This record gives sequence, structure tokens and C-alpha cells, in this order.
Amino acid sequence: MSAYKRILLKLSGEALMGDDAYGINRATIVRIVREIQEVTRMGCEVAVVIGGGNIFRGVAGGAVGMDRATADYMGMLATVMNALALADTMRQEGLVARVMSAIAIEQVVESYVRPKALQYLEEGKVVVFAAGTGNPFFTTDTAAALRGAEIGAQIVLKATKVDGVYTADPKTDPSATRYPSLTFDEAIQRNLRVLDAAAFAVCRDQNLPIRVFSIFKPGALRRVVEGEDEGTLVHV
Ligand code: UDP
Repeated sequence: MSAYKRILLKLSGEALMGDDAYGINRATIVRIVREIQEVTRMGCEVAVVIGGGNIFRGVAGGAVGMDRATADYMGMLATVMNALALADTMRQEGLVARVMSAIAIEQVVESYVRPKALQYLEEGKVVVFAAGTGNPFFTTDTAAALRGAEIGAQIVLKATKVDGVYTADPKTDPSATRYPSLTFDEAIQRNLRVLDAAAFAVCRDQNLPIRVFSIFKPGALRRVVEGEDEGTLVHV
């Protein structure tokens, strides 16, 4: 049983790379889509905000010295590419998905319109939000917080490579332990970066909890949606 009616899943571009240096790893994207499918079958409505780091990495060299806003628009277009790949994989796996972009590119995907997104979710379709917030100088973390709040998601699930927030870097410090839960204030006091500052502020203001978990751990998304102790919950 799903503990949530509606979730906002933030997938970084990196999550799609698998062990590759950049781009989209086929086996990885299929596995992630199947995990998303599993939670939709549990009755959970799923919206995804997809990042673009995996594609942007392939062109990052060319972006050095570029105007920041231009580079950021390139980054937003990278998220559209990921969204198309994700939605197509969903279609192949039997899920109905709709991509909505924060920047207008209507020949490719429809633009984000809140009532339409809500309608799709109510119909049981997976909505993939592309192009972040549509504004340079922001990240897809901020898009996840904003969209999560707008669509009335009960939680933002941040899929990362690490299975939660730790007292220290678990890769370099073997004594590091995972926080099962934290308040927003504790995260600030301990200087723990859960989401970027703008995204964190939106979640805190809107009383929107965040759970950080590993998408590389098979079954973790399902356990999170079942409300089990997986990753780290950040709450008011
Ligand atoms: N981006 C942006 N505004 C947004 C979201 C994203 O300008 O609202 C750009 C920004 O350049 C960012 C890139 O798109 O570096 C990819 O997004 P992000 O870094 O959040 O992706 P992730 O690291 O999660 O793959």
C-alpha cells in the first residue's frame, strides 16, 4: 500500500547515466521506469522532475566561459532530452506518460499548464516535468520543490546515489552514520545540503517534506512509498 496519494520524484540526470561517463544508460533507465511503474501500481500518483547533468556533461567543455544564462538554457534543453527518453521508455514499458515543459517548445512537448498536469495525475498518468523552472540561475531541485508544492504532492523524493543524508561523507569516513530523519532547522544548523538553498526554502515554507534516498538501490523507491525507513526524511 502506498503511504502517499501523490509524490514528486526528483531524478537527477546522473541517475540515468548508470556507470557511463555521460548520457543515458539503457538498462538503467528501464530499471528506473520499472520501479516507477511499481509504485503507480500501488495506487500512487507520480510526477517526475528530471535533471540534465548527464547530457550537459557531454557539452560542458564548450560551455566554459559562456554567458551563464545561455549555458543554463542549454541545461534546460538537456532536461527536455532526458524527459523525452524517460517518457518513451515509460511508453515501451506500458506506462502512460506526459511530458510538460517549462519553456515553450510546442512542436516537441506540451507546455506546463497546472490544471492539465493535475488532470493527467488524476487520470493515473505519469507527468514528467521538463526544463526545470524555465528560468536560468535555478536548478531542477528548485523545480521539484515548486512543482511539488503546486501539484499538492505530499512529499518530494530526491533520488540520489547515496541512500540518505549522513553525518559525514560515507565514502571517505567509515564512521559516518545515516540520519533516519531531520527537521529543516537541524539540516540548516548542521549545514547539511539536502536540496539547494532555494529549493530547501520552498519546501520549508510550504511544509513539504523531502526524502533523500538512493535510486541505485533496487526496491528503495517502493520502500519509500510504503513509508518504510529508507534514506533520510527531512520535515518541519
Ligand atoms: N537549469 C536552469 N533552470 C532550472 C533548472 C535547470 O537553468 O530551473 C539548468 C542549469 O544550467 C542546470 C541544468 O539546467 O545546471 C540541469 O539541471 P540540474 O543541474 O538541476 O540537473 P541535475 O544535476 O539534477 O541532473
